[in-house]
Amino acid sequence: MDTAVKTPKSMKATEMVARDYIEMTETYSAQNYGPLEVVIKSGKGVWVEDVEGRRYIDFLSAYSALNFGHCNPRINKVAHAQLDALTLTSRAFYADTLAYLVRDLAKFCRKDRVLIMNSGAEAVETAIKAVRRWAYDIKKVPEGQAEIIVFDGNFHGRTTTIVGFSSSADSKRGFGPFTPGFKLVPFGDIDAVASAITPNTAAVSVEPILGEGGVIIPPDGFLKQLRELCTKNNVLLIADEIQTGMCRTGKIFACDHEGVDPDVLILAKSLGGGIIPISCIAANDNVMQVFNPGSHGTTFGGNPFACAIAREVIALINEEKPHERAAELGAYAVSRLRSIKSKVIKEVRGRGLMIGIDIDPAAGTAKDFCKKLKYAGLLCKDTRSQTLRMAPPLVITQEELDAGLAIIEKVLGDHP
Ligand SMILES: *Cc1c(COP(=O)(O)O)cnc(C)c1O
Repeated sequence: MDTAVKTPKSMKATEMVARDYIEMTETYSAQNYGPLEVVIKSGKGVWVEDVEGRRYIDFLSAYSALNFGHCNPRINKVAHAQLDALTLTSRAFYADTLAYLVRDLAKFCRKDRVLIMNSGAEAVETAIKAVRRWAYDIKKVPEGQAEIIVFDGNFHGRTTTIVGFSSSADSKRGFGPFTPGFKLVPFGDIDAVASAITPNTAAVSVEPILGEGGVIIPPDGFLKQLRELCTKNNVLLIADEIQTGMCRTGKIFACDHEGVDPDVLILAKSLGGGIIPISCIAANDNVMQVFNPGSHGTTFGGNPFACAIAREVIALINEEKPHERAAELGAYAVSRLRSIKSKVIKEVRGRGLMIGIDIDPAAGTAKDFCKKLKYAGLLCKDTRSQTLRMAPPLVITQEELDAGLAIIEKVLGDHP
């Protein structure tokens, strides 16, 4: 076995260049990501700086986990203070910050109770457990028969159960056998959902807008129809708002666009203020009562550090109303992007500051254009092969947005 530690040519931190950090990462990290070649060292608001001093505008926001920007001063202040007070107790004990958070978060989600976890995927797993137990204990579905309806193009995380009901072959290959009990139907097709419902259906799980699936917005009225269909059939509606929630789409939750109240709401990503993972499901007593001591948990879930940060995030949303900025600036951005004269752009879709730009395959892949945008000073990410996802932090100013749009115009527009 080769035990020699592979170190980049320039060994002192002061001599390290971007290439060295990339090489070191690719040598020692599992290659489960294919990042853009930019090595970031610091960030503030919508801007990040790389190890060689170049500045970029961040139009990805860590997949909407940074809705309130890099190193938000208000959130960082609370984090610093909590770091020196208390960070972890485990749920074997109570903690003051947990008490405040569950109260404020339940109210924010307009539900009786919340159950706190760490990652998004964990919260989705929690929702699956909740609706299954509800199906057996309350709806009286025969043991082992509960079904959950999910959509083609869904992304709910990376655990084995969750990738098992993904429609993406890349996410699943080699990871089976998978958990049974899920039915896939086409996204936005209410008749398909109606046909898939049986007496054993526990829930329908939906992303109000497919995020990883390509920023796909369902037909107007779809969420409302889904809500009515679920209510009529005594089926729970789960809304995975991990990416669409926390103000991204111009409302606090994307379900608010159609006045829809899901039975189980899932939040993660920006709930942690861009600092720490924290996720939750929120539900009323009729569902949440299925959990009793010993039925579910996680060591770091509800830790005081994350709770203090999430509570400040909620206060920030209530006071600063970032969803209103997202609605206004998002409408402006989409109309400006649609007005770009371009042979490269096939379609622009968006709600609030969650925007997808489809690239004509004849011009290249979305990833090709991510690289070009990076050289021009803007960071974003492809999703599927032909969609560029644009989701800047919601704290972006009009001037910063204009600077970003100018880069997109320069790179994607026609230049005779
Ligand atoms: C990111 C995401 C998840 C998974 O969250 P993790 O924290 O990465 O586990 C689940 N659902 C949606 C809609 C997401 O965007």
